Amino acid sequence: MTTTHSLGYPRIGAQRELKFALEHYWQGQSSETELLATAEQLRRQHWQDQAGLGFQPVGDFSLYDQVLDMSVTLGNLPPRVRERGGELLDQYFRAARGRSATDQPGQGVAAGEMTKWFDTNYHYIVPEFTRDTRFQLDSRRLLEQFAEARAQGHRPKPVIIGPVTYLWLGKSKDDSDRLALLDRLLPVYGELLDTLAEAGAEWIQVDEPALVTELDEAWRHAFQLAYHHLKSSRPKLLLTTYFGQLRDTLQLACELPVAGLHLDAVSAQPEAGQLADWLAPHKVLSLGVVDGRNVWKTDLNRVLDWLEPIHARLGERLWLAPSCSLLHVPVDLSREQNLATDVRTWLAFARQKLDELELLARALDLGREAVHEALAENRRAIDSRRHAPSTRNPAVRQALAGLSPRDGQRQSPYAQRKPIQQRRLHLPLYPTTTIGSFPQTPEIRQARRQYREGTLAPDQYRSLMEAEIARCIREQEALGLDVLVHGEAERNDMVEYFGEQLEGFAFTQGGWVQSYGSRCVKPPILFGDVSRPRPMTVDWIRYAQSLTDKPVKGMLTGPVTMLNWSFVRDDQPLSETCWQLALAIREEVLDLERAGVTIIQIDEAALREGLPLRRSDWPSYLEWAVDAFRITANGVRDETQIHTHMCYSEFNDILADIARMDADVITIETSRSDMELLEAFQSFDYPNDIGPGVYDIHSPNIPDADDIVALMHKAAQRIPPERLWVNPDCGLKTRRWEEVIPSLTAMVTAAARLRQEA
Ligand code: GLN
Ligand code: ZN
Repeated sequence: MTTTHSLGYPRIGAQRELKFALEHYWQGQSSETELLATAEQLRRQHWQDQAGLGFQPVGDFSLYDQVLDMSVTLGNLPPRVRERGGELLDQYFRAARGRSATDQPGQGVAAGEMTKWFDTNYHYIVPEFTRDTRFQLDSRRLLEQFAEARAQGHRPKPVIIGPVTYLWLGKSKDDSDRLALLDRLLPVYGELLDTLAEAGAEWIQVDEPALVTELDEAWRHAFQLAYHHLKSSRPKLLLTTYFGQLRDTLQLACELPVAGLHLDAVSAQPEAGQLADWLAPHKVLSLGVVDGRNVWKTDLNRVLDWLEPIHARLGERLWLAPSCSLLHVPVDLSREQNLATDVRTWLAFARQKLDELELLARALDLGREAVHEALAENRRAIDSRRHAPSTRNPAVRQALAGLSPRDGQRQSPYAQRKPIQQRRLHLPLYPTTTIGSFPQTPEIRQARRQYREGTLAPDQYRSLMEAEIARCIREQEALGLDVLVHGEAERNDMVEYFGEQLEGFAFTQGGWVQSYGSRCVKPPILFGDVSRPRPMTVDWIRYAQSLTDKPVKGMLTGPVTMLNWSFVRDDQPLSETCWQLALAIREEVLDLERAGVTIIQIDEAALREGLPLRRSDWPSYLEWAVDAFRITANGVRDETQIHTHMCYSEFNDILADIARMDADVITIETSRSDMELLEAFQSFDYPNDIGPGVYDIHSPNIPDADDIVALMHKAAQRIPPERLWVNPDCGLKTRRWEEVIPSLTAMVTAAARLRQEA
């Protein structure tokens, strides 16, 4: 019998039960007991969903983050958290978010840093290390949950993050070499494995996704060291890799002394055959054949075509699983009532993916005949998607084929455009602007909701939004900003807003995926060729511009960000989908220009997020991604000024690509890095205008004009003042007007002082 298992299950709950339980608890509206009861209930449900598998994962459930859980298990909460003492749960939430439920505002500690989990949109809490870090086992969580699963009649398989990946994920706080901690870490892992074995664990899943990244000799050696050390422990280890191909670590992974190896066969299918050949004959090969991070149905017949020969060779040594933890997909498709019926038949969420897995196992064990009804149905769904007119729009394909490099090229170089734009815009030195959004007040949210539900008529909605825009323009004029925005009141989300107006996107009602902690996102599903039936933003911007003599920026989301924040079709290269988006948004750019808009901003908040895990793959991604931006933005005339915005501060390694975008102005996050990052722009000789964010919009603190002046002095040492703008780090939608007005007042005051000095 082919063994099936899963690497992990979404923990937020089909109706985001965990999110609400956490937030109530943090706000003091519910007790610890109530929170833990919800958590227990969710685990029970999730194991029930997975009861048909050979093993059920245990330890994948988390109250906040699985990496933070591992830090607790290893006794490695940050010292500032441990020194505060108190209950473990309080310490846990302090490490996660700076505050426990019992802390008063201002009583917290600095939260752990958060960063992207490999190339997904999930974010984990970064483990912290120093040369003095000591580890100490705390196996309570795993043991309790193991016993819990057992008591419910399951066959639990504990899931932990492996020692090398754990170190790899963390950060040294004192510049010491974190790999040097491996010697201290391994005995604790040994103890953990033995403890779990004593509790009755047969197999333990040890996640080592660091194996799909570029590893230097020291890290490769660490893998050998670690697993040779752990091989004496009792339970069988299933070493799991996911999110990519093994390539140059394939042999290393094969040779590690473990009882089984899991491969993400969705992104590394050709390596499955290689592993089947190379793996020692006593080892299990677990193949991740169902996509754990996208929402499409698996083409089961196609998978069986390549899987059957491997099964014939390996027999019971072959296990089947999703490619990675199902954390990255929504829980249950059967709750979706509003999806178009064809689109719906093409999809599988976590629960449905488990069904696919069981079906594949039965086809292998009993022959395809035994499940031929189900396979035929799957084939119909796959064929329906392949031939659906809604996924292929000949006009879009023709337009794409007709693209030439000229389409991504401005008429003249920046040096010539700049004076032309200046004659039109008459901006002062150190022009001030904002990133686009202004506070999304409860009234705005309510109006949008009522409009969506149909209780607010379209023209009522329009006048409410226009009133908001008018208010926003009035406030900006009173503040004395130089380049205004309309404030984005009509937008729920920077991707969803555009996706809803483009052909080729579908939206779920409850397709939530955890982003971090209690925060979830509901990515749109990009299923078909993208086109723009009609202008999306022109009326709003035109209205805003009609209220003022100052320039109002048109505000768009760029193609790469649309792509990286959606579930994307897997039946064509990402580059092609991205260029389709580019063409559609390009039309909007040109319509804005025709409507007399003088400045157009195209946000690429997620350009960096799309970077592949291995550096050797960066150039090809950056090439098509930057090309997509160029297609979107650069069809305008010289006198139209293009802005772009990026929400991060790591540019060192991609500056040439940023420069190739050729935006007239780029606004970036810098306030937290004290303008240091501008050094990179300076040494690269970045040619165009830059708006280094002068204050952190994530904090409720009101910045001080003196501090802003000082920051801009630093900036001016690196970038000539003629090319500097003054703006916040990011959009203001999460702030309140009471914070925004004094903050922007300080910013405008600072700019005025800078001009006087000049
Ligand atoms: N224009 C958007 C805003 O101001 C940009 C948001 C972002 O970059 N994340 O909200
Ligand atoms: Zn931003």
